[in-house]
Amino acid sequence: MRAVRMTHWGGPPVLTEVARPTPRADEVLIRVEAAGVCRSDLHVLDARPGALPYRTPFTLGHEVAGRVAELGPGATGPAVGERVAVYGPWGCGLCSRCAAGAENYCDRRADLDAVRTGTGVGLGRDGGMADFLLVPSGRLLVPVGDLPSAQAAPLSDAGLTAYHAVSGIRPALPLDGSGGGGGGGGGGASVAVIGVGGLGHLAVQILRATTSARVLAVDVREEALALADACGAHFGTLLRPDTAEVLRRQAGGIGVDAVLDFVGSHSSLELAVGALRAGGELAVVGSGGGELTVRKPGGLPPGVRISLPFWGTRPELEEVVALARKGVVRVETEEFALSSAPEAIDRLRSGQTRGRTVLVP
Ligand code: NAD
Ligand code: ZN
Ligand code: ZN
Repeated sequence: MRAVRMTHWGGPPVLTEVARPTPRADEVLIRVEAAGVCRSDLHVLDARPGALPYRTPFTLGHEVAGRVAELGPGATGPAVGERVAVYGPWGCGLCSRCAAGAENYCDRRADLDAVRTGTGVGLGRDGGMADFLLVPSGRLLVPVGDLPSAQAAPLSDAGLTAYHAVSGIRPALPLDGSGGGGGGGGGGASVAVIGVGGLGHLAVQILRATTSARVLAVDVREEALALADACGAHFGTLLRPDTAEVLRRQAGGIGVDAVLDFVGSHSSLELAVGALRAGGELAVVGSGGGELTVRKPGGLPPGVRISLPFWGTRPELEEVVALARKGVVRVETEEFALSSAPEAIDRLRSGQTRGRTVLVP
């Protein structure tokens, strides 16, 4: 079968032939129908040798949906023929976090990293940019019903990670108008979304669907702001030297209640800190390599809470799939054949993508 592989640190990805795996024990073989391309794939391809606890080669693709093709003799969960999204952070499956469906925060992550078994599907383990994907257990599959696979695949990372990040800031969003939101529309609280790409455009929709917050979008590309607008953002602006001030003004002059930073660079973190209200919430989702100094007293707003959400839980994936099946969340996709994966990955790198790039076999 075909597979898009990470063969050496520094890339580029290689489209090659590998043997089709056979499911043993609890394993399940998925016929891949769609695999999303994430900016994290670029971070993996660009990583220095030794920077990530993965062994090469492995197949890329950590956003996957398809149909159950074959069950190992001990496999449980969805039956052959059922359509599923793959829950991507693969933990030990045994600790209390994994038992609660939060394999993204598996207590044995350090042990798994030490033996370099990978963070999950397509991240050190063979992923879904291939004709077939071997999944260790049926517990990692979420049925998607009649949701098209090109929609379901991005929900398993872009959708799930955005949903988990929104869940984390929700306690900071007052519903009663006592928040910092001004300028009318969308209740009291204001949330800034920095970076309206694959994850960010879904975060805007999830915020609109599950909170009454006023959503303020920031990007460096006009097309991304147009997408934010189409996704329901109340306001959008290009990143400029005065953007923090603009966001504060949009938020009643006192600052935004929360920032979801889908970039994580020096400039985006600086913007986040400049726009936040005292006691606000900053979720750093992007892996852009920026740094913040935590010091008291220091440059951060008093009472600010900072979180580093990673992916999401299995129950949250079920929730975001349910939102998509209701039509409340829709992934904006650009589809490419699996054989065009190297070009599709280059397109993401050069910043030409609208929404999420999805590979279809
Ligand atoms: P993407 O390329 O689709 O979107 C990024 C967006 O940010 C683009 O629209 C881009 O124009 C915009 N942007 C770039 N620099 C900016 C700046 N300084 N200010 C404002 N906007 C800016 O990427 P994606 O696939 O959505 O991933 C976003 C980030 O999240 C990546 O760093 C990725 O590695 C990371 N990620 C983290 C997790 C996690 O679990 N924490 C999961 C998936 C992805
Ligand atoms: Zn990702
Ligand atoms: Zn675990």
